[in-house]
Formats: sequence, C-alpha cells, structure tokens
Amino acid sequence: MLPRLETFLQSLTPNDWIAIAIVVLLALLVLVAAIRIARRRRPPPGPPVPSAEIERELTGGPEALPPPSARLPPPVPPPERVPAPPPRPEDLRAAREAEEARRKEEYRRKKEADRLERERRQREREEDEARAREEAVRATREAEEARRRDEEERRRRAEAEAGKTLAAGLEKTRGGFMARLNALFTGGKLVDDGVLADLEEVLFTADIGVRTATRLLESARERVRKKELADPERLKAALREEIARILALDGAPAEARPLEIGAARPWVVMVVGVNGSGKTTTIGKLAAKLQKQGRTVLLGAGDTFRAAAGEQLEIWAERVGAPVVRGKEGSDPASVCFEAVQRGAQDGVDVVLCDTAGRLHTKAPLMEELKKVKRVIAKAAEGAPHEVLLVLDSTNGQNAIAQARQFHEALGATGIVLTKLDGTAKGGVVIGICDELKIPVRYVGVGETVGDLKPFAPAEFVQALFD
Ligand code: GDP
Ligand code: GDP
Ligand code: MG
Repeated sequence: MLPRLETFLQSLTPNDWIAIAIVVLLALLVLVAAIRIARRRRPPPGPPVPSAEIERELTGGPEALPPPSARLPPPVPPPERVPAPPPRPEDLRAAREAEEARRKEEYRRKKEADRLERERRQREREEDEARAREEAVRATREAEEARRRDEEERRRRAEAEAGKTLAAGLEKTRGGFMARLNALFTGGKLVDDGVLADLEEVLFTADIGVRTATRLLESARERVRKKELADPERLKAALREEIARILALDGAPAEARPLEIGAARPWVVMVVGVNGSGKTTTIGKLAAKLQKQGRTVLLGAGDTFRAAAGEQLEIWAERVGAPVVRGKEGSDPASVCFEAVQRGAQDGVDVVLCDTAGRLHTKAPLMEELKKVKRVIAKAAEGAPHEVLLVLDSTNGQNAIAQARQFHEALGATGIVLTKLDGTAKGGVVIGICDELKIPVRYVGVGETVGDLKPFAPAEFVQALFD
C-alpha cells in the first residue's frame, strides 16, 4: 500500500502539486467562511444563570430580576386609535355652506369663462366679417381701377394707332403761311396789284421755294391780267387747284402713292436722309404699317455711326416684332445692309427696310458711302434696292429742298417721306419739294407715334391746308 502511494506521489508533476495546493487552499477558505456564517447565525450563549436567581424567580420575590428578554428595549405599542368625536351640527352646517359656496364660485367662474369665450368668438367673427367686407371692397375697387386702366390703355393705343389727323398735324402751317394767304382773300375787295404784291410776299416767305413761289405767282398774275380772276374767292380756288396739281405731280390729285410692295422678294427699301431727319422713326412706323398689312419685315441697322442708332432701331423692331440685322458700332454699313438683304432672302421675308447713316465717321463723303451701300445692296438681291426712300425734315424749310436735290442726284430717290410737319409752320415745303423734284411724297410724319405716319394724298393735304 505504502509503496503504491509513494510511486503515485512520485508520479506527480510540479503542476499537479500546484493544482493540489490550490484545491486545498480553496477548501480551507470555504471551511473558514462556513464557520463564520454559522457563528453569526447562533446567538452567543448567555452566561449561566445563577441558581439563586432561579430560586427568586420561582418564588416571585419582589426584587425579582426581569427576565433576560426584558433587558431589550420594550416593543413600541401600536398607535392608539382615538375614535373621532361625533361632529357638531353647526360644524356640519358650516362645512356644507362652505362646500356650497365653493361650488357656486366654481360655477360662476365657469360661466364667466364661457361668457368671455363667447364674446371672444363673437369678436373674432365680427373681425373676420369686417375683413372680408374690406377685402371685397378693395377687390371691387382694384377691378374697377384695372378696368379703367385697361380702357385708358386701349384708348391711348387706339389714338396712337390712328395718330393725329392730318389737319391737326398741319395746325402750325395752317396758322402761319395759310392764315396769311387766307387773309388776302377775305374782305371781298377785288384783286388788284396791291393784293398781288401781298400774295408775292406771302408766297416768297412761305418756305415753298423761290421756283414754286414764282410759278404760283405768275399763274395768278396771268389770270388776273386776263380778267379771269378779279374775284378773290376765285383766285383762292385757282391757287388751291394749282397747288393740288403740283402736289399730285400733275397726276390725279385725289390719289395717295404710299410705298408699293412689288413682286420681288425680298422687296428692299433703302432709307436715306441727313442725320436726325427721322429715318429710324419712319422705318419703325413703316414696319408697323407693313406688319399690319400682313407682310413680314426685316430691319437692317445700316446706321453704324452710333451704337444708339442700332439700339433705337432694335426698340422699334421689338415693338413691332420684326427681326433686326445689326453690325458692330463702326462696322461697314454696306456690309450690314448686305447681310440684312441676304438674311431676308434666306428667311423669305417680304420687305427689308435698310436704315443708313446721315453722318459719317469715315473720311468718305456721305454720298459716296451711300452710293456704295446701294451698290452692295444691288449685289445681294436682283433689282435691289427697289425703293430709295428719302426722309426729309420739314422743319428745315427750304433747306430740305436743297437736301432733297442733293440726295436725289446721288442716289435717285424714288419716294419721299416728309417728317415733323406737326412741329413747324413750314409745311409749305411739301409744295416746293413736289414741284422741284417730281418725286412722289409717300408719307408725311405728324408726330412720334406709330399712327403718325400718314399716306400723303394731295387732295386731302390741300383740304387740310385750306379748309
Ligand atoms: P434719324 O437720325 O434720321 O434716324 O432720325 P430719328 O428717327 O432718330 O428721329 C430724330 C427725332 O425726330 C426723334 O426724336 C424722332 O422722334 C423725331 N421725329 C421723327 N419723325 C417725327 C415726326 O413726324 N414728328 C415729330 N414731332 N417728331 C419726329
Ligand atoms: P465697293 O467699295 O463699292 O467696291 O464695295 P465692296 O464690293 O468692296 O463691298 C463693300 C463691303 O460690302 C465689303 O467690305 C463687304 O463687307 C460687303 N460686301 C460686298 N459684297 C459682298 C458680298 O458678296 N458678300 C458679303 N458678305 N459682303 C459683301
Ligand atoms: Mg437713325
């Protein structure tokens, strides 16, 4: 037995020994803990009760010691429940009254809160209604204002479209030259040399040009000499007839000769004239007229002298809804016009209106430059330009006649537009222009709005002057 134990012990490795030691240690720890717990549970044994004491206890002696348990603090007796004394009747009544008062107060408060809430809602309703009423009034007022504005706008537009009447446009001329002419024939005195001298003075200061004044005067003298026209009214009628004949270029006085659009496409109109005569404005008005007739229009900004000129044309183009071909400021006007005509042909537009400069930034004289523009336009489309429209400012009076002569010589004007008749008493200049140049006046300008470009009808014009 022993040798076996010995061999067993010898077979143990150091690790086995460590394990055994740990197990033994743990067993010891468990033992110690168990003992301590057991000790705490068991009350410590009191000292042995002396026998004398036991004796005393049994006999019930007066000075008997309290039993060991009496040494502990006495248990707390449960709180003694004192039965409430029966409430007194007056207390009960007071409590009831207090309760009643509290309820009444609560009820009063609730009522008050309800009343305030009702008032608040009523106030809100009234405010809402007042707001709605105000809103309705404002909406009505705004609608009324909008309607009035619309009407005003329509009226203004209609007025602008219709433009001034020719008579209104000729107001200043009627008050000037024509008033003086009419004064000669009132009073009923017979036409004599004195009246003829007065007529001469009026005619020669009437901006109709010397040639035309002479022609009119000679015709009057001739008729007076033949005793045809001693009656001033008849002389006046004869003068009127003669003027109508001049304005109609010896054709039918009733007929207007506005710009005619022929078969060629695009129909190219080159607009020329001195700076400020009204070329760009006239192009804008004309574009509007043509568009209204159902024709498509393209504008060429050939006045490259100032950037403002191109911008001005663009404003008109936008207004009438026509495309514009524009070059850079200072670029070759011929090139811009060429491009415009080419674009017009490509896009199949009916009319190309080419603006040009009235003053130049280059050394080239104006007329030479314009001749070049005309040549280049001719390269862009066959037969172009189909119309060379000369724009003259009537406020220039006889100067306009001199300009017309110059432009016509250089470019061969095919039509004339006489602008700004509304601003001058020199409307007689039309007579001189027609008489000297024999080019049809196609339109007269009597203001700055679209409707202020009037087709020129000789009979109507004479009527507006004389009546
Ligand atoms: P452009 O330099 O020849 O192109 O001339 P604009 O077209 O720029 O016109 C010069 C000024 O004359 C502008 O202020 C126009 O509004 C004005 N104008 C053109 N035609 C008329 C017209 O018939 N009546 C009046 N009162 N002003 C005109
Ligand atoms: P000239 O001074 O009379 O000989 O005119 P040009 O024939 O030199 O043309 C003047 C300008 O018009 C040129 O600088 C070009 O910009 C323009 N131009 C003339 N012919 C044509 C052309 O066939 N095509 C284009 N695109 N532009 C042209
Ligand atoms: Mg211009």
